[in-house]
Amino acid sequence: MNSTLNDANPDSSTEPVLSVRNLQTVFRTDRELIRAVDGISFDISKGETLGIVGESGSGKSVTARSIMGLVDSPGEILPKSSIKFNGEELTEYTDAEYQQIRGSGIGMVFQDPLKSLNPVYTVGNQIKEALRINRGISGQEATDKAIELLEDVAIPDPARRLKEYPHEFSGGMRQRAVIAMMLACDPDLLICDEPTTALDVTIQAQIIELLQDLQEERDLAILFITHDMGVIAEISDRVNVMYAGEFVEKAPVTELFENPKHPYTEGLLDAIPGTNAEKERLNTIEGDVPTPNEQATYCRFAPRCPKAFEDCEQVHPVHVPISEDGEHSAACLLYPEDRSTEEAVEYHRERGREAEDVPEGDHA
Ligand code: SF4
Repeated sequence: MNSTLNDANPDSSTEPVLSVRNLQTVFRTDRELIRAVDGISFDISKGETLGIVGESGSGKSVTARSIMGLVDSPGEILPKSSIKFNGEELTEYTDAEYQQIRGSGIGMVFQDPLKSLNPVYTVGNQIKEALRINRGISGQEATDKAIELLEDVAIPDPARRLKEYPHEFSGGMRQRAVIAMMLACDPDLLICDEPTTALDVTIQAQIIELLQDLQEERDLAILFITHDMGVIAEISDRVNVMYAGEFVEKAPVTELFENPKHPYTEGLLDAIPGTNAEKERLNTIEGDVPTPNEQATYCRFAPRCPKAFEDCEQVHPVHVPISEDGEHSAACLLYPEDRSTEEAVEYHRERGREAEDVPEGDHA
């Protein structure tokens, strides 16, 4: 596969903030090797939001944790995986170096803000501590800066709220407080893993708007992970659709919604409420995401795919450019569209063999 295919923002003249190549994160058990993330590649540039969407179990959160250096044993990132942040290879970092980058360069917002907030300290203390450790700011200056940060995330009456504990905040306010704490570290990259999933739709919309405003002000690169196609549509510039550890389709957001190509993406879009007005019931994709415990020598979506045919069980699809600029690609044996099924399957076989010959190739 073309290693630049849809990995970079073509308008960006600068180096990507985050550049991931052939990321493979596995979990070893006594009986098997689970390939939670299986050879994915992508870039994110300053001021850009890349959305990763897929059902639960597709490998999205493991991707986020791999970037953050938070994969615990029995999980491991395989050699030849590359995660470059501002040009630095993170897979070679020690725990101490990772600790530093988590504090200063990369911020992470989880679904549950209480994972990031300590219940026994006031919100103000926690923001001030982040300012002290990461930016050497303390005393009154830290208090003023903490108030400013709470203002930035639109928390009303910030001087008072600074003295309150996390349990005194509502769910939406807690998530804002976490974002303020992340901003205290002045990150270049914000990784958001289902940050709005536990919130009601109004608060969800407010948090998305807040992230967009902060991104514009600070030129933040954002990796936004969710199972929710509606949220992805709101926030992303580009979208990578993930299934069983692999990316199956990559496209700019409008293109993905207007012209989906992979049967899995079509299934996800069909399941969005409101997109099937003429139908009585929402379509759902039958079955669950399989646990990827063997090498992908076939299409992992085949057991659930309404368009599957015999070869899907035997040939692993590679990414095929859909748009001329390569920004849109899909990994499915139905493409290239202008070839017969036999020719298309041969195309995938050949590309698959070529990728095997290039150990550091770009797989998904
Ligand atoms: S390769 Fe086959 S099973 Fe996989 S998505 Fe395409 S048609 Fe469906």
